[in-house]
Amino acid sequence: MSDDTIFHKIIRREIPADIVYEDDDLIAFRDIAPQAPVHVLFVPKRTIPTLNELPADAPEIIGRLAVAAARYAQQQGFAEDGYRIVMNCNGHGGQTVFQIHLHLLAGAQLGRFGTPAA
Ligand code: 5GP
Repeated sequence: MSDDTIFHKIIRREIPADIVYEDDDLIAFRDIAPQAPVHVLFVPKRTIPTLNELPADAPEIIGRLAVAAARYAQQQGFAEDGYRIVMNCNGHGGQTVFQIHLHLLAGAQLGRFGTPAA
């Protein structure tokens, strides 16, 4: 499993990012190409390339990402207006960085999703 993705480099502070949250197990930073007024990525520090490699003995990793995202939404004041969390897997899911991550999108009415790409 590669620990040399762009997100690992952000975790190791080898490249800069606008980090909004960090603890022993995960980091959160603003997406470099935001798809909504708020677009933050929540990334575990443990190397997991895709959801297909999510350890069966550690499903709580996903819960940790979701809890961190929900707390961030509450702290930032947009929890009641609403937001979306998304995780992409492999090609058809649109995954481009192969370290799992949860997208938090907010700050405007979001459109529908899940339709095939044009
Ligand atoms: P995926 O398509 O894998 O679900 O999401 C990867 C996300 O990482 C994309 O939304 C993309 O804009 C973001 N991204 C790619 N490279 C960088 C980077 O160097 N810095 C930051 N902050 N985000 C990045």
